[in-house]
Amino acid sequence: MKKQFDVAILGAGLAGRLAAWRLVRAGRRVALIERAGPDGAGAAAHVAAAMLAPLAESAISERRIVELGLASVDLWRAWVDELAGEAGTGERVFFQEAGTLVVWHAHDRGEMPLFTSRVRAVAPPELVGERMRRLDAGGIAGLEPALAGRFQQGLLLAGEGQLDNRAVLRVLLACAVAAGVHCVWEAGEVDEGDLARLGIDARAVLDCRGLGARAAWPAEGGTGSRGPLPGLRGLRGEVARVYAPDVELHRPVRLLHPRYPIYIAPKPNHLFVIGATELESEDDSPMSVRSALELLSAAYSLHPAFGEARVLELNVQRRPTRPDHLPAIRVDQQACVVRLNGLYRHGFLISPAVVQAACEVVDALLAGDPAAHAVSASVRWPGMIAPVHGAAVLH
Ligand SMILES: Cc1cc2nc3c(=O)[nH]c(=O)nc-3n(C[C@H](O)[C@H](O)[C@H](O)COP(=O)(O)OP(=O)(O)OC[C@H]3O[C@@H](n4cnc5c(N)ncnc54)[C@H](O)[C@@H]3O)c2cc1C
Repeated sequence: MKKQFDVAILGAGLAGRLAAWRLVRAGRRVALIERAGPDGAGAAAHVAAAMLAPLAESAISERRIVELGLASVDLWRAWVDELAGEAGTGERVFFQEAGTLVVWHAHDRGEMPLFTSRVRAVAPPELVGERMRRLDAGGIAGLEPALAGRFQQGLLLAGEGQLDNRAVLRVLLACAVAAGVHCVWEAGEVDEGDLARLGIDARAVLDCRGLGARAAWPAEGGTGSRGPLPGLRGLRGEVARVYAPDVELHRPVRLLHPRYPIYIAPKPNHLFVIGATELESEDDSPMSVRSALELLSAAYSLHPAFGEARVLELNVQRRPTRPDHLPAIRVDQQACVVRLNGLYRHGFLISPAVVQAACEVVDALLAGDPAAHAVSASVRWPGMIAPVHGAAVLH
């Protein structure tokens, strides 16, 4: 006997858990199906630094990411409160908006104008004017006493945020389950064709499998000399997680460097995530010695007390990335399947707004709307939501 649901969500990573929680709160009957276990270890979200840094990221992103990021940080602020108030774990997710500190060693000062000119080229001028502040040595010491005397100049990107990634995954799941989401763990590599076998009958499917959905995103383009681009590819990212009881930092710190630009994101209890490499590679084998040396040396150059830190984890994951490095939602009206993907290096920064848009599409599908891709979110975020024409793209 199959169980009946409104929505089956494939993939219990960041997007899948957020969507499950939002949809069940809206009164939907939701099944959440994951190839791995409830600890989230199969997800890119499990290793992420979870910085919410629209301005810092604008140095390497499109304006769309800044805009989705600003909208999403507003949502996180409200949702973290809502999660804390619900019958879940009783745990409050660590979330703060203490800004990002950007510093550089004196011999790398040429990196600063490059960084600021990229930010100015992409971010809205009023945001740059309001949030990007020059700091001298005294200003840095005032914000981060641990770095006193170490850097002569810096930038504060005020108001930028951060989350505890693993607490987000844990609390979202606890609240979703408490509200009635039915979870299937260790399901193996599934797609919507496997739902019947799993005893699930759903009116709509929301595919949040990240890189695991690769086969459902056909190659694009093909006119250039390099041929068609994969519709979804992985970008290898390596991060170290260390315990450094002698280091006190109050906000993420980014070190501008010509070869090893790194960030150090403090988490509760003197845990720090040091990252991240970004390699054009689908390889998910363990971290290379070279990457470990680069990340840990850069942290040591930021503060020598990192020399006595204990390395807890050296992690590798691949960021699910679209050819344009932007998120996308694809709607197969006939099959009642919505695919959300391409969160790339910005999943924590932008997922609330992207998931909200996907949930709007799911609602429209369930309501039998013949133009489910044309929801109000598609007006707000032009190009992000698009219909899939013709045959299903399943392999
Ligand atoms: C090193 C690193 C650092 C990062 N730092 C940041 C940061 O500071 N700020 C930020 O905003 N973002 C950051 N990100 C990006 C962020 O983690 C991703 O964008 C985000 O996790 C993507 O979410 P997702 O739900 O699409 O995929 P995932 O989080 O990867 O979740 C996908 C889920 O689907 C499951 N799955 C896959 N295939 C199947 C299948 N066939 N059947 C069933 N289940 C399946 C997986 O096991 C997984 O649980 C970072 C990423 C990396 C790798």
